[in-house]
Amino acid sequence: DHKDIATPNRTKEILQTYGLSAKKSLGQNFIIDTNILRNIVEAGDVSEKTTVIEIGPGIGALTEQLARRAGRVIAFEIDERLLPVLDDTLSPYSNIEIIHEDILNVDMDAFYKARLKDTEEIVVVANLPYYITTPIILRFLESHLPIDRMVLMMQKEVASRLSAQPSTKAYGSLSIAVQYYMDAEVAFTVPKTVFMPQPNVDSAIIKLTRKKGTDIDINDEELFFILTRSTFVQRRKTLWNNLQAAFGKDERIKDKMSKALKQSGIDPKRRGETLTIDEFARLSNAFSQMGF
Ligand code: SAM
Repeated sequence: DHKDIATPNRTKEILQTYGLSAKKSLGQNFIIDTNILRNIVEAGDVSEKTTVIEIGPGIGALTEQLARRAGRVIAFEIDERLLPVLDDTLSPYSNIEIIHEDILNVDMDAFYKARLKDTEEIVVVANLPYYITTPIILRFLESHLPIDRMVLMMQKEVASRLSAQPSTKAYGSLSIAVQYYMDAEVAFTVPKTVFMPQPNVDSAIIKLTRKKGTDIDINDEELFFILTRSTFVQRRKTLWNNLQAAFGKDERIKDKMSKALKQSGIDPKRRGETLTIDEFARLSNAFSQMGF
């Protein structure tokens, strides 16, 4: 049994020993509460058969809790200054690999082939750097890595956008981009006081679980995402107005759009924010059939 990293005193001591201060520009807010960390690991359902991918191990607070439960932990850290720290704080654990790389530059296919091919279960767990929350999530989802679950700490407001349902203020193209691949739920909210230094915003843990299979097969994913995004460009406007602005106003195009809407049974006077993902899927398939 080893002393937890995530206590206020130990965190201070580690930072002092290495002469480090948290870098705001890298979104460094270290967790100093082991209960929160255990709840995160719990939400991730992490076990012996799990390979965990962590983004931004920091000084190793979450990494350590993960390593106690997981088969393997692979953690990407961008900040070179933290490498000797992690070497030291995580030395009691033999199932952790630290990779010094910007997560947004990782070649996911190559990473999968090199390190993940034979894994039974892949779970992404992170206390994310908030300045790049969305790009990180989209990168993982669009990479088509066979990720089973993701448990992620982020700004509360972003968490509610990811998990939002139609006809709510938070619902938008980000909700759809995420929920196209994963079921999304807010697991719990987190007070600012568990961080050092404390962030300016409230935080929440979101849990994303791979969908068992989408209800509708989408013919053209790119078109689906283009169409979705276009209908939220001016939220207060109708579907029809936003579609015209995106795809064109000439008669031939309007005629094709009109047919596609009719075929998918969607009223052009509705607002994009009222459409479910299945409705967007139907509409995008009809668009695709019309040659868009
Ligand atoms: N996991 C630690 C914890 O919970 O205490 C630290 C979390 S801190 C909010 C975010 C971490 O992500 C920092 O360690 C930061 O250096 C790292 N980071 C920031 N940008 C990154 C990037 N592009 N790629 C990899 N790591 C990054």
